[in-house]
Amino acid sequence: FEAKQKKLPLALYDGRFTHCQNRRLLLRHELVEAIKNDGLSLHYQPIVDTVSGGITKLEALVRWRHSSLGPISPAEFVPMAEECGMVQALGDWVLKRACADLCRLQRAGYRLEMAVNRSSLEFQSLGLDGGEWLSVIEQHGLSARHIIFEITETLFMQGSEQHLARIQALRQAGCRIAIDDFGTGYSSLNYLRAFPIDLVKIDKSFIDHLPGNHRDALLLEGILRIIGELGMSVVIEGVESRAQAEYLAALPCDYLQGYLIARPLALRELLPFLESYAGHSVPAAD
Ligand code: C2E
Ligand code: MG
Ligand code: MG
Ligand code: MG
Repeated sequence: FEAKQKKLPLALYDGRFTHCQNRRLLLRHELVEAIKNDGLSLHYQPIVDTVSGGITKLEALVRWRHSSLGPISPAEFVPMAEECGMVQALGDWVLKRACADLCRLQRAGYRLEMAVNRSSLEFQSLGLDGGEWLSVIEQHGLSARHIIFEITETLFMQGSEQHLARIQALRQAGCRIAIDDFGTGYSSLNYLRAFPIDLVKIDKSFIDHLPGNHRDALLLEGILRIIGELGMSVVIEGVESRAQAEYLAALPCDYLQGYLIARPLALRELLPFLESYAGHSVPAAD
């Protein structure tokens, strides 16, 4: 009996591990239900154009409020959807909802573009002509020019002919491609050479210690110069302070996104925000 007991996985005696496994199992099961039954929602984070001072783009960010556990981060549940083969369904739901809401906003007179995140896995299963995504955009009567697909750097790490074909097809139709979380992967500069990318989203970690850190400033300014010279536009993510915005105003970056401008907002909160946004400067820090 003793020998048998010793063979049991250690994990069974570790309360924390078991709790963790239970949470994952429970969440996975309920995530599948939420994806199937419209249990998710989208928030939209405004992106400001540094030249005009106006909000010209929104980023759609998926939200899931669990009935008893409350809000679960997409950083936790998107990978979960990938693991259980549901990420395609999740991504399709997000794209459809984002297109429908963009239509409503455009009808209300807002000239906005919509950025939609798609995971590397989803991108890998997209047809080479991009048809599945393009037809959703078309079905909503939107111009492909108004849609940006954000793809994280990890995808570009396994650079392939097929990725290039998909990117070219989407761009040919008019969509823009953004590389998300730029600078967090490996040999990032290589992707800029290999793929036709429209927008580079510089990860928040690059500005966390700015202004005030000389090395970080040199690094950011060098990256901005290279990207600018390659003819791509730049979005700086995670701008939280007035001091950061003032520092960035002197640099060649095209767009800012972050809590200083606005947190991701539900559509009903977004409309009054857009209504009241002065458009000439970012709001004063409190
Ligand atoms: P991301 O695409 O890089 O999105 C930016 C994240 O930074 C968002 O977190 C946003 O809420 C947060 N953020 C924006 N401004 C600030 C700021 O000033 N300070 C700080 N601390 N954070 C800021 P969120 O919504 O939790 O999303 C996390 C990640 O989950 C996203 O990172 C994206 O990779 C993924 N994700 C979100 N929605 C989707 C989706 O619809 N599909 C896919 N495939 N992934 C998604
Ligand atoms: Mg993103
Ligand atoms: Mg990002
Ligand atoms: Mg990020």
